[in-house]
Amino acid sequence: PLQEGFFFHAALDADGADLYLVQELLELDGHVDPDRLRDALQLILDRHPLLRASFRQLPGGEVVQRLAGRVTLPWREADTADTALDDVLRADRAEPFILDRPPLLRATLVRDGGRHRLLLTLHHIVADGWSVSVLLRELTAAYRGDELPAPADPRPYLGWLAARDRDGARDAWRQALTGPPEPTRLSALAAAPDDERAPARPEQVDTRLPEEFTAALTGYARAHGLTLSTVVHGAWALLLGALTGSGDIVFGTTVSGRTTEVTGLDSAVGLFINTVPTRVGLRPQETLTELLRRVQDEHSALLDHQHLGLADIQRVAGGGELFDTLVVFENHPAAQPPAAREPGELRITGNEVHDAVHYPLALIVEPGNGGLLLRFKHDATRFDQVAVAVIANRFTALLRTLVADPGRTVARTGLLSGREHAHLAELNATERAVPEATLASLFAAQAARTPDAPAVIFESTTLSYAELDRRAEALARRLRSRGAGPESYVAVAVPRSAELLVALLGVLKAGAAYVPVDLDYPAERVAFVLDDSGARTVVTTTEAAGMLPAGPDRLLVDRDEDLPGADVHEGPVRHAGPDHPAYLIHTSGSTGRPKGVAVTHRAVVNRLAWMQGEYGLGADDRVLQKTPAAFDVSVWEFFWPLMEGATVVLARPGGHRDPGYLAEVIRSRRITTLHFVPSMLAAFTQALDSATDRPDWADSLRRVFCSGEALTGAQAGDWSALTSRSGRAPVPLHNLYGPTEAAVDVTSFAYDGHAGRTVAIGRPVWNTRLHVLDPFLRQVPDGVPGELYLAGTQLARGYHDRPGTTAERFVADPFGGPGERMYRTGDLVRRRTDGVVEYLGRTDRQVKIRGNRIELGEIEAALAALPGVAGAAVIVRDGALAGYAVPVPGTVPDQE
Ligand code: AMP
Ligand code: MG
Repeated sequence: PLQEGFFFHAALDADGADLYLVQELLELDGHVDPDRLRDALQLILDRHPLLRASFRQLPGGEVVQRLAGRVTLPWREADTADTALDDVLRADRAEPFILDRPPLLRATLVRDGGRHRLLLTLHHIVADGWSVSVLLRELTAAYRGDELPAPADPRPYLGWLAARDRDGARDAWRQALTGPPEPTRLSALAAAPDDERAPARPEQVDTRLPEEFTAALTGYARAHGLTLSTVVHGAWALLLGALTGSGDIVFGTTVSGRTTEVTGLDSAVGLFINTVPTRVGLRPQETLTELLRRVQDEHSALLDHQHLGLADIQRVAGGGELFDTLVVFENHPAAQPPAAREPGELRITGNEVHDAVHYPLALIVEPGNGGLLLRFKHDATRFDQVAVAVIANRFTALLRTLVADPGRTVARTGLLSGREHAHLAELNATERAVPEATLASLFAAQAARTPDAPAVIFESTTLSYAELDRRAEALARRLRSRGAGPESYVAVAVPRSAELLVALLGVLKAGAAYVPVDLDYPAERVAFVLDDSGARTVVTTTEAAGMLPAGPDRLLVDRDEDLPGADVHEGPVRHAGPDHPAYLIHTSGSTGRPKGVAVTHRAVVNRLAWMQGEYGLGADDRVLQKTPAAFDVSVWEFFWPLMEGATVVLARPGGHRDPGYLAEVIRSRRITTLHFVPSMLAAFTQALDSATDRPDWADSLRRVFCSGEALTGAQAGDWSALTSRSGRAPVPLHNLYGPTEAAVDVTSFAYDGHAGRTVAIGRPVWNTRLHVLDPFLRQVPDGVPGELYLAGTQLARGYHDRPGTTAERFVADPFGGPGERMYRTGDLVRRRTDGVVEYLGRTDRQVKIRGNRIELGEIEAALAALPGVAGAAVIVRDGALAGYAVPVPGTVPDQE
């Protein structure tokens, strides 16, 4: 079966070097008679019909093997005095076999001063490693003139093969591969080769396990009734699991194919091996020994079915490649020629094999003398020597764990070394002292420091710190009289204006948390948010009040008084503390209901303190506020400047979508700081790129922040190009990352002009720890994709009134102190060795459309709830949502 595969590879790679050409370079000791050696080799070729095989494709497509009667061994002699050994090898390698011209074997005797080397070159399609040991044993014997046992006749084997129950085997494989597994692709970790079609560059990293350790490993295996090959397979599965983040692992294994049902196969020469998939399901709670036992049992169940070709097996599994790594456990009798009878007699003292495998990485295990030899053969265009050496170290470390602690569970068997753990701890050592404060107390302190400084500018209105403080305090008093205080929620439905800031600060001063309500949203969603938050009061304006659904009491921020006489609150003022919620912001929920994220003062104060420490706003800074209040980015746009004596400049309602307006506001208001969602940054850059009438629009800008979705290298590059056009340095661009569930942002990265497809999201903010974990919550090594979990001060309290959903996403932090939680982001990331984190995508069905966070499940639930719709699916296509509905049989749903 494997010959078929080799044949097709040879046909496919007809113009590249043949990877299945094997060179055995033998060192000969003692007197060498070239003619006798040549005769001995010819004798061997005569003895073994399968060595005389050739292959061709018939016009009907079928590939056949022909066994020639007699062929002459191609023989050459070379001398290193004329050609260096390496050149002999290289020239020989460059000479491909033609598969329909037997024999697919040749020999070159190389004289090297007083020594001899015999180069045996063969195509793998006619002999496997086991065959080569038989061949070498016979070669020495034939050279000496010893009588050889009768050679094995291939016919009984071919008869046996033909009689196999192929349908039964297909069924067995179909069952073993039900599911079917996702392909396990280790090369997904490797940097993409510069040229996908570049020929493979075979290289090899060898590790020999110390003898005592090999003995301990063998002892462990024996004590548990396991074969050493099972141990290797199990450890390989653990390694692949930890490197790919998958619990369902497939890799290739090479089996000898020399069935004991046919006698004499152990001394036959031919290609008997086969490559079959090994699938290992990893179970987190299983112990290592239990895992190995199961691997062995599952392997045994398939023993009778290993004769089926890989292409056949892949077909029953649904087609397509299942794996890209291979494990070969060499269990054949090692080449051990008998000792020389007389001094000076020919002996083979060394054997260097030059061959390669067609996989990015293959592990060849050779038991033999001394310790277990592990050879990691790799394609250097995929994995370089260093990467493979690291993999080899991790693999041997896993073997050591197996021996030292076989009762450990899979979930606790991580790959990281002590040094790697220490490095991660260092990256997460972000502790910084931040004052115990609330947004309200920090604003009050700032207002006392700079009462006359401009706090808010909106069109023709400017409010000083003192004025803003006074008006917010007045509102707070009215709210208190309505019962607002710590742990209560007050909705704010005020279009962008100076009043919006009065409203937000008023709610905070009252000790309550604000719930932003975006009046641009559908009435149904507005009603849901109001109802879900439990707010008893909604602060709004005379104009906006008309757009609100029935529900909570309205309090008009643009009218100084409520109903006459109802505004005096005489009870004690209750201030919020750091652990009371500051705001409640709703995000999309996968089950069809948005969920409110309750964020505490401590979390957001930490976020603002970090931002000030990192970027340092001054009194002369002006921050453009343009993000709708229902998005948490608005939180720092509102409050960062107000904590630092700087000015918030509010864009007019709708203005955040209008590049021309924004450029004009930036220029005329001397904006220094603003935020763009990457897709808006791109739209803005593009619009400004063609409008050259005001080249000075960006003069005042000191920094721009992006967040909300992946920032592409192209978007960042275009921004830098645009803002550096007039010969000055580009406006610095910072990529921030974070979910609403962790106080806006938890990582930052300063774009430095270099980026791949996407700009990195960087390192953690203050008092924040990042964990990149696999599905068993094990920390993954640098460079390996994993899910990002967040821990530290900025974590939200959870989802308002949704204990179940909260418990799903805010989970116990196994790396933190007792009782600490971590938030599961659903984001797939990878950490570079320098600690910078790169964003790769999502692990679930949450998407971003122009920065809007959307659970496709929410839209699907809404579609499916419509009359006449039996089922629905939503995907993102070309940056927009596309919905599909399956009608209830017999009905035609209304497409509108
Ligand atoms: P939100 O809660 O709306 O802030 O959305 C949070 C999600 O937006 C994250 O979990 C990411 O999937 C995505 N996101 C936010 N910032 C970035 C960024 N800088 N790069 C890539 N994705 C981001
Ligand atoms: Mg965010």
